[in-house]
This record gives sequence, C-alpha cells and structure tokens, in this order.
Amino acid sequence: MAVATPAGRKCIAQASYKLDQVNESLTTIRGICAVVLVVVLIVAILVGRFLARRSLRPVQSITATAERIGVRGLGERIPLAGTNDEIDRLATTLNKMLERIERFVRQMQQFTADASHELRTPLAALRGSAEVALSQKRSTDELRQTLEEGISQYERLQRVAEDLLLLTRLDAGEVVMRREAVVLCDSVADVVDLYAPLAEEKGLSLGIESCDKAVVQGDDGRLRQVVGNLLDNSIKYTPPSGRISVSVAKAHGNARIQVKDSGIGIAANELSNVFNRFYRVDSSRSAVTAPGTGLGLSICQSIVEAHGGSITIESTPMKGTCVTVLLPADGFA
Ligand code: ADP
Repeated sequence: MAVATPAGRKCIAQASYKLDQVNESLTTIRGICAVVLVVVLIVAILVGRFLARRSLRPVQSITATAERIGVRGLGERIPLAGTNDEIDRLATTLNKMLERIERFVRQMQQFTADASHELRTPLAALRGSAEVALSQKRSTDELRQTLEEGISQYERLQRVAEDLLLLTRLDAGEVVMRREAVVLCDSVADVVDLYAPLAEEKGLSLGIESCDKAVVQGDDGRLRQVVGNLLDNSIKYTPPSGRISVSVAKAHGNARIQVKDSGIGIAANELSNVFNRFYRVDSSRSAVTAPGTGLGLSICQSIVEAHGGSITIESTPMKGTCVTVLLPADGFA
C-alpha cells in the first residue's frame, strides 16, 4: 500500500494547479475562437451580399430597361457596363435585337400610313363624285357616266388591296411557293405574248432578244408574275415608238432574266428607293400618265428572294432601264 509523503503531496498539488491553468487557457482560447468564427461569419455574409448585389446590378438594369420598353419607347437601349463580360455581351445581343424590332415596327408603321394614304385618295374621289351626282336631279345618262367614271377608281382600289394582301402574305411566309422544274424560256415567251397587244397598242416594239433553255426549281405562276410586272412597268414608262427586249441567259451557274427598255429611265438618286413599298419616282408623273400602286417591284423582289434569287435595276434617265433577275439554275436544257 502506497503512503503519500509530504514531498509527494506537494508534487501532486503542483500538478493539479498546472492542470487548472491549462483548462483555463483552453476555455479562453475556445471563447476567442467562437467570437472570431461569429465575426468571420458575419463579415462573409455581408461581403457575399455586397458582391451578389454588385454582380446583379447589370441584370437589374436590363430588367428595368426591358420593363420601360414599349411600342412608344423602342428607341431605348440597355446601358453597357463596359466590362466586356457575359452580362455585357447579353446586353449587346439584346440591344441588337431591339434595333431589329424597332426597324421592323417603323417599317410597319410607314407601310400602314402609306396604305391608308393610297386608299384614301380613290375613296375620297368616289365619294366626291357620288355626292355631286346626288346633289341635284340627274338623267339616267348622267348617272351612268358618273358610275363609269368611278370604275377606274374601283379598279385602283382593287389593285391596291390585292397587292397589299399579296405582300402581307409573302412577308408572313403564307404564300406556298411550288417547287417544280420551270423552263424559263417557255414561261417568259408566254408572258411576252400576253403583253404584246398592250405594247403594240402603245406603238412599242416588244421582243425576245435571246433565250437560253435554263431550268429553275420554282413556282411557274409567281415567276410569270415577276416577268409580267417588269413588262408592265416597261410598257408604262416607255414613250411610243420605244423598244422593250427580254432575254434569258446563263450567268455563272445562275439563270438570268433581263427586261430592257428605252423608256424615260430613273434618276440615280431615286434608283435605290424603287424597291421600297409605295415608292413612285415622281408620284404626280406616275399618277397622271401611268397609274401604279408603287408595289410592283416590291412584290417582284419578295417573289425572287423566296426563290433564293436577287433582283437589281440599272437606269439612265431618258435612255432606258434594265432590270436583272438572277435565279439559282437547276440546269440548262
Ligand atoms: P408602280 O406600280 O408605280 O409602277 P413599281 O414598284 O413597279 O410601282 O415601280 C416603282 C417606281 O419605279 C415606279 O413608280 C416608276 O417610277 C419606277 N420604275 C419602275 N420601272 C420602271 C421603268 N422600267 N422605267 C422607268 N421607271 C420605272
């Protein structure tokens, strides 16, 4: 049995004192650690919230701009932070999309305004003549004459309505283009035959200059409509005793249709506008001597582009005009 000596008891007391000190230090360290942990946690939360807010600020700006944009505020754009990061690239893409939408809406507004203007004039003329006819007692012959005079206005209204409908359907992709093998030369010859009496009546020579047997995949009816519109223009804008010639040729794997006339031509500064809807080079001249809707070339362009082709126009005032249609050829017979 061990008996504690005074020296042993002193030694044990010293050891227990040191253990108490170590425990006390450990408790202090634990307390400090807990406080540091809480502080670090709070700082981390605050910094995280700050960073998240900062990085989401451009997204908030995009949301705010998108909410402000309506049909009236289409000119507005999302501001760029200049950081060239993903958010900046997203804003640039959205801005480009807004630009396209704005251009489209402006075109639609212009189109609607032009269409209303185009319909208002013949409607006003018809109403005016009907009011004059009814303002006093008229004989049957006089009333008949009023009705006959109105026919040209009705025809004009009908033409504008048909052209507008066709363009709208072409824009919407609602016109189903057939894909059949079309021997261009045969179709062009038929259309030339169709317009020959009209040209003859005006004292114009109309003929086919050359005809390569090009074959294209397309809608024969619509392609004939293109050639018809171009011939109609040439006949309208070429003074008596002028010449109109049509040709079909190979051109770098494409089929090329050209309609040339020796007519009044188009000034260089007007040339880029003639494919715009309702554009007429000189509306007074066109309205008096050659009534048109200003939609013929736009329709040609829509049809040709739906066939994967292109249409261009060259002209010299008082010398003549040449319209060229290029279509992807399927082969040459
Ligand atoms: P329109 O029905 O008025 O003829 P288009 O769209 O076919 O409409 O043509 C637009 C304008 O381009 C015409 O008003 C006319 O001034 C001009 N134009 C088109 N073809 C010719 C041509 N062969 N010679 C002279 N001017 C032309």
